[in-house]
Amino acid sequence: MTDYECPYCGGTESSSKDHIFSDFFGGQQTIAACRECNSRFGHEFEGRFINALAPMIVSLAICGLRPKRKVTWKYAFVDLETGIKYDVNSDLFAIAPVQWQVLEEGGRAMTATDSRIVERHVENFKKQGKKISISRLESKSMRPEISFPIHFDDNMKRTAVKMCIGLLHHFGYQQVIHPQTMDYLLNGETGPIPAGIACVSYPALDALREPLSHVIYVQGIKKKKFLYGIVQFFGVLQVYCILNGQYRGEDLSLLGTLNSVNFLESFSETPALNLQLPYGDIPVGDYWTGRCFGNSMCKLKRSSARTC
Ligand SMILES: [Zn+2]
Repeated sequence: MTDYECPYCGGTESSSKDHIFSDFFGGQQTIAACRECNSRFGHEFEGRFINALAPMIVSLAICGLRPKRKVTWKYAFVDLETGIKYDVNSDLFAIAPVQWQVLEEGGRAMTATDSRIVERHVENFKKQGKKISISRLESKSMRPEISFPIHFDDNMKRTAVKMCIGLLHHFGYQQVIHPQTMDYLLNGETGPIPAGIACVSYPALDALREPLSHVIYVQGIKKKKFLYGIVQFFGVLQVYCILNGQYRGEDLSLLGTLNSVNFLESFSETPALNLQLPYGDIPVGDYWTGRCFGNSMCKLKRSSARTC
């Protein structure tokens, strides 16, 4: 292919199929991206982000939402009675890896899942001349009470930025992202982070998707020279991405959705939603441009924001 150019690094070699919505979520639509970016992103942040979502995916499975691919939440909970750590997978099996307990007579007990670590414990106790017993801990089936934290970290935010670029690329928009946002995508946190959690509700956007869907929405506003994106995971976690504060392109308003119940995907142009930049941890105002993005931003009175 002669006209191929990687949407992330601009490279022109070794094209590969890169999913807009991760195939892990059940996404099928792909864009052409270079093999190196595709595999690097997978290792660097996408894979880590998806691992971090395992607790949420398992919890949604408990509520009846089965993922396309089986997911295992490592060490989901500890049985306080035995001290055994359990994994829980999205088929709702609580699994304890085989665990061994090395008990020092009249003293400490140590548990391990790895036989080499068990051997090491045994060696240590023996060296100290202590009597020990080794037993295998039996796991039991139970319905655990589980809770989990969600980390709104770089892995999630870089994944969201990448998805916005994927959507733009799908509709033929190339090289519309600010270099600083590209730098963030490619290298992670080296300066201000152009993406942040959006703890606000966007009813106009939510109306365009089924419940629990994954969403990518990108809007370019010619008059404001502003290009932004909003990504929702499971319709719950929401990331706002500043894609370009010096946008020179035409008005555009693009939507991608992936239903996490039936895994149907759709990509379309949609009426402009003009969604507000949320409060939160995204630098606003003259972050790149020396301009404000509207009165609501100035109310934030951030040190970086000039007045309108
Ligand atoms: Zn590339």
